[in-house]
Amino acid sequence: MYHQATYDEPLLIELKGEEERSVDVDLPENLKREKLNIPNLEEWQVVRHYTRLSQMNYGIDINTYPLGSCTMKYNPKLNEEIARWFMYLHPYQDERTVQGALQIMYELQEMLKKITDMDDFTLQPAAGAHGELTGMFLVRAYHEFHGELEKRRNVILPDSAHGTNPASATMAGFNVIEIKSNDRGMVDIEALESVVDDTTAAFMITNPNTLGIFEEDIVEIAKIMHKNGALLYYDGANLNAIMGITSPRLMGFDIVHLNLHKTFSTPHGGGGPGGGPVGVRGELVDFLPVPIARYDGTKYYLDYNVKHSIGKVRSFFGNFGVMVKAWAYIKRLGGEGLKEAAIRSVVNSNYLKERIKPYYDLPYKDLRKHEFVVKPKNARALDVAKRLLDFGVHAPTIYFPLIVHEALMIEPTESENKETLDRFAEIMIQIAKEAEENPDILKDAPHNTAVKRVDDVLAARKPVLTWKDKY
Ligand SMILES: *Cc1c(COP(=O)(O)O)cnc(C)c1O
Repeated sequence: MYHQATYDEPLLIELKGEEERSVDVDLPENLKREKLNIPNLEEWQVVRHYTRLSQMNYGIDINTYPLGSCTMKYNPKLNEEIARWFMYLHPYQDERTVQGALQIMYELQEMLKKITDMDDFTLQPAAGAHGELTGMFLVRAYHEFHGELEKRRNVILPDSAHGTNPASATMAGFNVIEIKSNDRGMVDIEALESVVDDTTAAFMITNPNTLGIFEEDIVEIAKIMHKNGALLYYDGANLNAIMGITSPRLMGFDIVHLNLHKTFSTPHGGGGPGGGPVGVRGELVDFLPVPIARYDGTKYYLDYNVKHSIGKVRSFFGNFGVMVKAWAYIKRLGGEGLKEAAIRSVVNSNYLKERIKPYYDLPYKDLRKHEFVVKPKNARALDVAKRLLDFGVHAPTIYFPLIVHEALMIEPTESENKETLDRFAEIMIQIAKEAEENPDILKDAPHNTAVKRVDDVLAARKPVLTWKDKY
């Protein structure tokens, strides 16, 4: 069974050890420190310390990471290398000296336009949720321009929505109306029609939805929104299932955000840098944030001249390194490669679903796309997730979407091969059997990790946010 480095093993640096050193620099006396709190160590000690810390961590470079909704696909190292070429650029550099960087931004916008069929893009938002907020500001600006913001106060979303959707709509000043999904796990058209009217600003939805089910009435939904003067917002976190096969525009969406760090591969989780570009169609292009990278036939430049721009939504130009990685990923795969990635992600997810289906409850009948949601038959989702860690596998997303109780949301992505999928399925099957025969082994799990079962509630109520609190 899996063994992970533990805190108890030797060679961890003691982060205490204050040292007295005289600091001979010309500073005002009151600013000088009397003591330096820096450990005095050999190089090899520092190397071993950080190597050991990395062994206590988990990432996609170690094993599969089937975290539903988060699209934890493999991050090719070439992309990191290419992003590193740009690391000495400064955002205040003259445009003439950063033509290559501007070209990458411009080309990325063009590629995202092609993938989504949208008319224009901003690369500024720093993550999906930030893209949503930007999108909601665009909804505001659009209705304000048409003199309707006063009455269009409501944003509608399904009860399967990601938690960031209602949060973004609320932060942008809208009221949120949640509608129930139907018994197939899709938007209930009747429920939608009963709440849409001239107070509706927008409908926010992801497709395939968070159950991994494709909303087959999406074109009808778009018609209902547009007939009522409202906009349709695409949460693009699930684009991995459909890229190259259909597009947000074909489905009828007006505004989309994409999660560069999910669909187009950048190491994420733990709050690392992300990218949440927002694309729009039609007259919405006049409201986009500035600046936008443009090309005039001879040179690339930043265009601050957007007619009714909502302004800036982030300092400088967004997370440029993430843009470079997305650019490199898309360039390398090409249109056909992206489409194949989508198809494989769907095939992998359905293969895994079929393998574990006899041992877990599978709510809803329709075909799944790149992810699926199951429920343990004889255990809590939390205990299954903790037990998975003992086998050296990252747990899936749990307790989301909210409409499935004890949900385990599994997304293997296209990166995994049949051997990894089979191994994961076998572990899931073994845990299902343990839940029946020896449930205590689940309740005490994990047994083999550096940190054993943690008190999640206490951690949320009394978070320890710096090492100083610990040592
Ligand atoms: C991840 C995700 C988001 C939020 O994106 P972040 O980049 O994490 O801010 C929104 N909606 C869905 C469905 C997601 O999976």
